[in-house]
Amino acid sequence: MGSLTLVKPNLHLVDVAERQMLFHVPTSSLFELDDLSRELIELFEDQPEVTAPQIRARFDGRFDAGDVVETLEEFKTLKIVADAGSKAQINIEPKPVNQFPLTTIVLNTNTGCNLSCTYCYKEDLTTPSAGDKMEYDTAVQSIEMMLKESPDQRQYNVVFFGGEPLTNMPLIRKVVAYCEERFATLESDVSFTMTTNATMLNEELVDWFNEHRFGLTISMDGPKAMHDKNRITVGGQGTYDVVKQKVNMLLSRYDSRPVGCRVTLTRGITDVEAIFDHLYHDLGFAEVGFGPVTSGDITSFNLTADEMAEVFAGMKRLGQKYLEAALEGRNLGFGNMHMLMTDIHEGNKKQLPCGAGVGLLAVDTKGGINLCHRFTGSEQPLFGDVSEGLDKPALAEFVETRLDRTETGCETCRIRNICSGGCYHESYAKYGDATVPSYHYCDLLRDWVDFGVQAYTRIMLENPGFFEAHVTPRAFSR
Ligand code: SF4
Ligand code: SF4
Repeated sequence: MGSLTLVKPNLHLVDVAERQMLFHVPTSSLFELDDLSRELIELFEDQPEVTAPQIRARFDGRFDAGDVVETLEEFKTLKIVADAGSKAQINIEPKPVNQFPLTTIVLNTNTGCNLSCTYCYKEDLTTPSAGDKMEYDTAVQSIEMMLKESPDQRQYNVVFFGGEPLTNMPLIRKVVAYCEERFATLESDVSFTMTTNATMLNEELVDWFNEHRFGLTISMDGPKAMHDKNRITVGGQGTYDVVKQKVNMLLSRYDSRPVGCRVTLTRGITDVEAIFDHLYHDLGFAEVGFGPVTSGDITSFNLTADEMAEVFAGMKRLGQKYLEAALEGRNLGFGNMHMLMTDIHEGNKKQLPCGAGVGLLAVDTKGGINLCHRFTGSEQPLFGDVSEGLDKPALAEFVETRLDRTETGCETCRIRNICSGGCYHESYAKYGDATVPSYHYCDLLRDWVDFGVQAYTRIMLENPGFFEAHVTPRAFSR
């Protein structure tokens, strides 16, 4: 054996009570270290290169020689040690992208919205009547493009987005009828999802969504004082009272799927725990997820660095409650933490931050193809048009650029396979370039993932059945 060296970017050690865990970065997997592996890593941490005589001097007579060799071989297989001087493999070599396994299509039903939320990022937002509405033919072409690009999938998803999607219900009803007939002829299922501000819901609509098993997410920002700060009508009135009334009605009659809530955190709105308590415990949403605004066009709404730290501190306190519930076998319904647990549990080695541009595309009202719903109506160039087809070379070039981590700050980051450089739209909003990673709160994110690894380990050690019941398959229960 020549000398060996530690490949630091591939491992991260986490202490959980008495146990020391190794978070294996390339696969986002966890291993518990025994005394031998712990000492071996300590030896490698102490010196840049380790030789066979040094290993013998440290372990002979204390551990079985066969066990030492076996553990070193495992470390080499995991690429956490490598021959000194060799080019250690840190990232998976990006391959040319020539297939787009598209299973989710987002339809921008109307650029108009009946509200005028102060922080809205949509560059083309207007009132419902002035808005551009998607034509039925465009919606059908979008669905056919998805089927053409990615035939023979078991499950497809059609997402209705806006503006406010409820302002174009005639289109949504026709598209659902089309899909139910079309997908019945294939051996595939189709599901429908929608994010809405809820203000236009009524009992008839709720029952119709229930019948078609829509996955519904309501945009709501917390108790009245917080919600009304930004989520206002065109005339400037707060919308909390009407949204609360609609949510009560919705949750009392909707039973086909759990209803989630999406909270936007902006400057001055950072109390994650109070917001969660209200939306989850008082109103009864099945899951509440938080989206911090850090790089919007209107900089006065972006969270400051101190506020971002406050948000992550609140997320960790709420994450602690999630952990306590999980140890008792309950899923608390804290969406961000549940997603992190799912990522770690599934050993996600994400090379890309999300499905946008690969498994998911968004179509604007005129048929232009965008990376995701947040880009529709933006200045980002389109990736083709649903009548003429997907611009695969342009999309492949974008995805390949993001896959290549060479000389980015992500190359050796310990959470590179969970964060994967962050949301494209954040990069676009912050730097005007969706291809570069968004580095603006990396330390907080790393700390959040470390917290998640510790929580995951405790659940795994003390109540592993939680994952079977609530994570695989992903499930909600109150
Ligand atoms: S954006 Fe930051 S936290 Fe995310 S992978 Fe890159 S360096 Fe790590
Ligand atoms: S690019 Fe950002 S906003 Fe779009 S789907 Fe991905 S994570 Fe979400």
